[in-house]
Order: sequence, then structure tokens, then C-alpha cells
Amino acid sequence: MPDTAPASWEARAESSSFYGFTDLPSVKARGTVVITHGEGPYVIDTNGRRYLDGNSGLWNMVAGFDHAGLTEAAKAQYDRFPGYHAFFGRMSDQTVMLSEKLIEVSPYERGRVFYTNSGSEANDTLVKMLWFLARAEDQPRRRKILTRKNAYHGVTAVSASMTGKPYNELFGLPLPDFIHLTCPHYWREGRPGETEAQFTARMAAELEEVIAREGAETIAGFFAEPVMGAGGAIPPSAGYFQAIQPILKKHGIPLISDEVICGFGRTGHVWGCETYDFVPDAIISSKALTAGYFPMGAVILGPDLADRLHRASEAVEEFPHGFTASGHPVGCAIALKAIDVILNEGLLENVRRLTPLFEEGMNRLAENPNIGEFRGKGLMGALEAVADKPTKTPFPSTLSVSERIANTCTDHGLICRPLGQSIVLCPPFILTEGQMDEMFTKLEAALGEVFAGLG
Ligand code: PLP
Repeated sequence: MPDTAPASWEARAESSSFYGFTDLPSVKARGTVVITHGEGPYVIDTNGRRYLDGNSGLWNMVAGFDHAGLTEAAKAQYDRFPGYHAFFGRMSDQTVMLSEKLIEVSPYERGRVFYTNSGSEANDTLVKMLWFLARAEDQPRRRKILTRKNAYHGVTAVSASMTGKPYNELFGLPLPDFIHLTCPHYWREGRPGETEAQFTARMAAELEEVIAREGAETIAGFFAEPVMGAGGAIPPSAGYFQAIQPILKKHGIPLISDEVICGFGRTGHVWGCETYDFVPDAIISSKALTAGYFPMGAVILGPDLADRLHRASEAVEEFPHGFTASGHPVGCAIALKAIDVILNEGLLENVRRLTPLFEEGMNRLAENPNIGEFRGKGLMGALEAVADKPTKTPFPSTLSVSERIANTCTDHGLICRPLGQSIVLCPPFILTEGQMDEMFTKLEAALGEVFAGLG
């Protein structure tokens, strides 16, 4: 029998585990929530407390925490063939079927898929692919990678270099040749008197300037999340992708859509690029790809990159890259089921049905004098706390306002995430209207308590 004495679980977690992305003073003051199981969109801790997980785990548990179809798909595949790789001209039947399915649901008529264990590895892999391609095509100087400030592309040394967050300085990152452009967040980055269209034009002009300054022949690719997730659920300014893609095309720079969060329904379409009406040269997928039931990432190459990379690999006999568990048959079986559940069992439909209610709830909370902005798309959204609404002045960071709100929500049985000065919600796609009400009731109570406490 597991020991469920709360103090003991907290102490055991604290003495044995190295915490990532965790506010350690909060853990010290409040202890660790140790989760034992889940029911629908709820998780339950060792004290028997239930939390509505307004963040779908880490954006990924879109089918909830006890989807029988997904666990049965896993079990059936474990019974049939529990593990294999995708090296040396061998791969599992499930891997082949998943690649075909991913191309079928992609914006491409044909392409090729490469598997990883995570979103970070998928971004790393694609950067290596672009570097490999540049050298094979006799353009070895094409190494620079363009992303945006506030972008989140992962934590491995390369994907962390793509991530545009200040904490990477703590690691001496980014590596050389990773360039971060302005975050296309009109509400925060727009200048006084600047219209959204003018702002978008400025973002495009900046891209032109950076390409001219660096030299197009030195740039390997431009990576972008359709909606920035860990940056704080930031949709692009209107017309952003339509403004930048022609510039990238003109200079032969591939546009990569990092769909780790947006992919498989979060924004109301299968892909975020569909929502924002552009076709990238490749797609990075993870998270909802397996509904969070298996660690997996995928690089989905459109036809041009797929053909060129295949030729480049043939020229040296192989593409010398891969992970032991790339294309794992159980992961692929789960992903096939997850895609079926999302597309054919009503999850995507539910995202679309719930989006107006989600927006209504968020807009209502944004009437609070200390909420400066609601932003988001589909079932992802953020409320940004401000000390002064008209001037958008943030609270001093020493007040840790968003952490306080998230902690108070946890006390009320709601999990939501502090990101900068914002609170982010991205509930599972299986949410009911009643659970949506519960989420907003709890968040509203927490906002009231925290803002009142700030005096
Ligand atoms: N790309 C995006 C857009 C993400 O949101 C994340 C993770 O949140 C990653 C990449 C990294 O994925 P992982 O945590 O699986 O390495």
C-alpha cells in the first residue's frame, strides 16, 4: 500500500526530486501537490483533494485523465509488440500507419515524418535537418535560426536557444546564430497611436531589416508558434503570417510552424496554421498528438523539404540522427487513437462549441480593473494582471501577483498557470459547460481575494 500521509509525501518529494520550472519558495511555503490519479478533467492528490486541471496537464491531456479508449489502445499494442526503433531500415507497422495519418491530416498532399520523444527534440531535429541540408546543398553558411522574443520552443540546448525567454541567460544561452525578433503582441508591443495594421507592417519591416543585416544566405529557417503558448497565450497581430511569409519565401528561408501546443485542435482547427491561414514548410507536433498518454514529438516535412532532405541523405547514404524510442509502436498506436478521438469522437467539435463560452467567461473576468487584457484563441487564453489598467502598468514583479492567483486557485481546487504577469487557461477538450462554469467561478473568487489582499 502506498503511504498516503500528506506530510510524508511532501517531504519525500522534496528530499528526492529535482524540480524543474517550479517556484521553489512557493513549494517551500506550500508543499508539493502529489497526484495519484485523474478523472475526466480532474486530478486527485494524495490527500484526496480534487483539482479541475485548467491547464490540461501541460496543454497535452486534451482527452482528460481517464480515457478508456486511449489506455486500451496502449494495452493492446503492449500485448502485441511492446517496443521497437526506427533505425536501419526497420520500423513498426504502427509507425508507418501514423506517418500516413499525419500526412493525411497535414496541409500537405505528401511529405515525410520523423519521430522524437518530445517537442524540444523535434525542434532540435529540424534545426539539424536544416543545417544538414544547407551543407548538402553547398550553402554551409546557412545556419542562423530566427525566432521571436517570448517564443517557447523547448529546453534542449538548441531549442532553448530558439526560446526567447530571459531565463536562458542563466545557462549562457542562446548559442550563437539564434536571433530573436520582436514578439508580435500588439497590446503590449504596439506604440502609442500605432494601428494593428501598422504594427504588423513594422514586424514585417523588422524581418526584412534582419535578413538584410545578417544576409539571407546565412539564415536556415524561421520558427514560430501560431499562438505563442508559454509566452502567455499570445495570438499574432492581425495579418502577421500573411505579412512575413512572402518575405521569407523571397529569401528562400523555410517557415516552420511549431504546433506543439496549437496542433490537434487547441485553436479550433487541427493546426494553428489552418486557423491563421498559412501553409508552413514543416510542422512540429507533440503534446496532443498522443493526448499526453505517451511522450512523442513529430517533425512533419512538407514535400519540398522532404524531397530535398531525402536527396541529401541519399547522397551520404543516411541521415545520421535518431532516438532509441523514435516511432515507438506503443506511442504510435496511442497517437493513432488520439487523432481518431480528437477528430472523430467529438473533441475538436467540443473545442469549437465551447470557445464562445470560454471567450465570454474570460471577457467577463477581464472587466476586473486589475486585468489589462484577455487574449487567446480557441481553448487557450490568458488574463494579464495590471496595477493600472489605462496605462497597462504591470504590478512590481516582487509581488508575484500571478503566482499568488495560481496558488489561490489551487486552494480553491483549480489548477491554472502563472506566466509572467498572466494567468493562462487551456482546459481539456472534453470539458463540459458545467466544468467551464466551475473553472470561471473559482478563478473569479481567486482574483477577488488576491487583488483585495494587495490593497
Ligand atoms: N514547442 C512549444 C510550442 C511548446 O509549447 C513546447 C512545450 O511546452 C515545446 C516546444 C517543447 O516540448 P517538450 O516539453 O515536449 O520538450
